[in-house]
Amino acid sequence: MGNRHGPVCKICRREGEKLFLKGERCFTQKCAFERRSYPPGDHGKDAQFRRRRRSDYYKQLREKQKTRRIYGVSERQFRRYYRRALKSRELTGELLLKILEQRLDNVVYRLGYAASRSQARQLVTHGHFNVNTRRTDIPSMIVRPGDRIEVREGSKKRPFFKELPDIAESRTVPQWLSRDVKNLTGEVIQQPERRDIDANLNEQLIIEFYSR
Ligand code: SF4
Repeated sequence: MGNRHGPVCKICRREGEKLFLKGERCFTQKCAFERRSYPPGDHGKDAQFRRRRRSDYYKQLREKQKTRRIYGVSERQFRRYYRRALKSRELTGELLLKILEQRLDNVVYRLGYAASRSQARQLVTHGHFNVNTRRTDIPSMIVRPGDRIEVREGSKKRPFFKELPDIAESRTVPQWLSRDVKNLTGEVIQQPERRDIDANLNEQLIIEFYSR
């Protein structure tokens, strides 16, 4: 998924809701879902009106796929996160979402330093960020309370990062993070709480999917 190519708007249409995978475009009339809110394919429009009773399995699968696609994680990586959450004493579903939320690419996105998670992943991969003063190019790195994320000095001279403070200013930052927009830095204050994460995700269905 991290390397997914092709039209991502089809994913929103397939899942039947806006997943905000394309940054600013998602908030404009150019959003494909605003224009065609039915599934892609020749029979997509018909499927929209077909009243089909969805099986439990179908609902569980779709919820897992939706969550995986929002965070841009491969099936293998997603399953690895699930196993890790399963071993903990914390609620498995909640912890799974917290792990996803603490990925470095997601944190860069949440800090407002990228328009979408996929852009954040690209910026991290290209080595524009330090974590605790060390350059890192691993989007899947899990950051923890106390970790400090910053745009590297050399990168700040690039046009994209010069304009970034003005753009980032308009984005709100969740309570578990703090941000210094002027210096393009951020810090993880605490672990995210469930209420900090998209309420539209149903982690219980994901757990049921993997428990089958
Ligand atoms: Fe989804 Fe954004 Fe494309 Fe709209 S523009 S369909 S929200 S990815």
